[in-house]
Amino acid sequence: MRKTYLYRAKINKKTEANCNQWLEICRTLYNLALEQRIDAYKKYGKSISCISQQNQLVELKEAFPEFKVVGSQVLQDVIERLDRAYKAFFLRIKQRNGKAGFPRFKSKNRYDSFTLKQAGWKLEGKYLYIKNIGRLKLFLSKPILGDIKTVTIRRSSSGKWFVSFSCDNVPVRKFASTNTSIGIDVGIKSFCVDSDGNQIENPKYLKKSLKLLRKRQRSLSRKVRGSNRRYDARLLVAKCHEKVSNQRKDFLHKVANSYIKNNQTIYIEEINIKGMMRNRHLSRSIADSSWGMFFNFLLYKAEEADRVVVKVTPNGTSQICSGCGEKVPKSLSVRVHQCPFCNLVLDRDHNASLNILRVGQTRQALSTQRVFA
Ligand SMILES: [Zn+2]
Repeated sequence: MRKTYLYRAKINKKTEANCNQWLEICRTLYNLALEQRIDAYKKYGKSISCISQQNQLVELKEAFPEFKVVGSQVLQDVIERLDRAYKAFFLRIKQRNGKAGFPRFKSKNRYDSFTLKQAGWKLEGKYLYIKNIGRLKLFLSKPILGDIKTVTIRRSSSGKWFVSFSCDNVPVRKFASTNTSIGIDVGIKSFCVDSDGNQIENPKYLKKSLKLLRKRQRSLSRKVRGSNRRYDARLLVAKCHEKVSNQRKDFLHKVANSYIKNNQTIYIEEINIKGMMRNRHLSRSIADSSWGMFFNFLLYKAEEADRVVVKVTPNGTSQICSGCGEKVPKSLSVRVHQCPFCNLVLDRDHNASLNILRVGQTRQALSTQRVFA
């Protein structure tokens, strides 16, 4: 199994200056390579391949010796990033997926990481040594398992440094085996409600941090462009952003872990988040509760632990009575499900999660029958 481990890193001024220099060189290369591709297309109607640009790196280093400081694989990776951006762009055009967004030139704040592959680094205990850069001290909150394939150094917008290790052959995590299944309905009022009737609230501290973030954003918008005060305000906003994002991730990890630990099969709704974003009233709460990220956590944690996550097409899960199967229409503002047919009274989201569980189990049973037929 593949897994990425992320750690905060502490570095001294000199190492930091070197990291910043590498970022700047990588950014320059990215922009040069992008310019070359655009030129070739405009002038000759030709596209340049990733390999061909990578092959030109030797020549580039001869002409501009400053590129020699950065490891060859790191520079190759820059070209691969650009290539991925191109491929993603053409895929979006093919799928006619909203605005296609041509790959952009990167400004200073927009280029914040570089990646090493097998060469040019060494990990000794909590110290990561990078050739031509120096030593980074890692806060190894959890051990690195498996074989390290790539090492990525990232500068956050508030100026902190992070290192992530992408590993292969990471052993599967073992939880006690269980046969239980659960349906989860992500909500608007609370974060989610499951078919066991548990309601998980959005944490209060998150709300508090979000409030502070909005306050700081307003203060930033009042500062004069280019001023020192604006710079300070921007840093405060970035710090707050990071805090909110960390708190949210932390919360989502905890919720996802507990569901994975206690259930063999987890049923969730297939949600079209992009479609929902158009509905502006809903978008705020969706963004706040980060359902997409939560589902991703569930999916990869399930793979890690040999559990199963099944996505169920939402077919009136909130409108159908989980007790008798009759349709009980209600608007978004109605929080309680009251069935006039079987007199069932339940929290709206609890009713929906029971439907998600039932629909998922029925569908799975059907597909198993097909396998045996
Ligand atoms: Zn009913």
